[in-house]
Amino acid sequence: MHRKSRKKIMVAGGAGFLGSHLCERLTAQGHDVLCVDNFITGARDNLDTLLSEPGFTLMHHDVTEPLSVDVDEIYNLACPASPIHYQRDPVRTTKTSILGAINMLDLARRNDARVLQASTSEVYGDPEVHPQPEEYRGRVNPIGLRSCYDEGKRCAETLFFDYHRQHGLAIKVVRIFNTYGPRMHPNDGRVVSNLIVQALRGESITLYGDGQQTRSFCYVDDLIEAMMRMMRTGPEITGPINIGNPSECTIRQMAQIVLDVTGSSSTLVHLPLPPDDPKQRCPDITRAREILEWEPTVALRQGIEKTVAYFDRILADRGSARS
Ligand code: NAD
Ligand code: UDP
Repeated sequence: MHRKSRKKIMVAGGAGFLGSHLCERLTAQGHDVLCVDNFITGARDNLDTLLSEPGFTLMHHDVTEPLSVDVDEIYNLACPASPIHYQRDPVRTTKTSILGAINMLDLARRNDARVLQASTSEVYGDPEVHPQPEEYRGRVNPIGLRSCYDEGKRCAETLFFDYHRQHGLAIKVVRIFNTYGPRMHPNDGRVVSNLIVQALRGESITLYGDGQQTRSFCYVDDLIEAMMRMMRTGPEITGPINIGNPSECTIRQMAQIVLDVTGSSSTLVHLPLPPDDPKQRCPDITRAREILEWEPTVALRQGIEKTVAYFDRILADRGSARS
């Protein structure tokens, strides 16, 4: 790669599900990648193929603490994303979003670097507008079990836009909708990994509530492509931009796809719906189509097949490690 186009890029939360794929793509492009993570939900294993790459560096660091490094671009993905994990220590989750955002923004200011925030569809809460365009301001409960994540991410967006207005910082905000794929942790707790692991182990498939709530699932490779396109946009593009797959399905339909792909004979069990669980979610991706010239390319069944193949392999490895 030409020296001028080779950048120093920091990925905060780079040992997690999305972060590890992003580190991989950026390293493959020839950039110097600094992965910063406190491993609260991430894993060193996710970076196995990268640790021997000369351009790749791993740093154990918590983004709630300030950091001084030399960088051209920062992707801020550091935050647990699964409800069971972000609700385990909710005060820490809020601190991660808010202090983490401040520390990433200050670092970007000192380096005159671009900084991208991995925001979320959760900023729309349990939405009354469907599908959700970026102009929709959302319906978030400020005092519920999900609030540490939702309000933390909303405040992080506020900080990004205030640093942009007050300090002229080059910011990029993407609102990520449900994304799935290889390297989700088997105990992650989110629906796709839960259902696949249960089906492969022949355990009951847990449907929360009646399973009629909807989500729109994006395959990880598509998502990472959109994030990287966003970072490359001109300085006038700040976002927020929704990125996700606009094809919507009920959780019950997802369970059926998982059963078909795995060929499992697991049965469905109904568990109580968690409080404030959004009933419907689907991105309006008009802006992403226009500005990023992007839309998802991997169909749901195809993505689930790839993800099942991944879990099949790692569960077999774990089984053989035990025996
Ligand atoms: P993940 O939990 O697998 O990854 C998060 C990573 O951040 C982990 O490696 C974790 O150890 C690290 N981390 C957490 N707190 C930290 C801290 N204080 N300091 C340093 N590192 C810390 O989750 P993911 O699915 O990869 O999500 C990545 C980002 O994308 C998150 O910010 C999440 O909110 C956002 N997002 C993801 C989705 C999705 O469907 N995957 C949807 C919306 C938003
Ligand atoms: N869900 C489910 N069974 C599970 C895990 C989740 O029915 O084992 C449901 C959950 O109630 C929600 C949807 O699947 O309606 C997506 O949940 P997830 O935790 O993956 O993400 P989020 O709610 O943050 O979109």
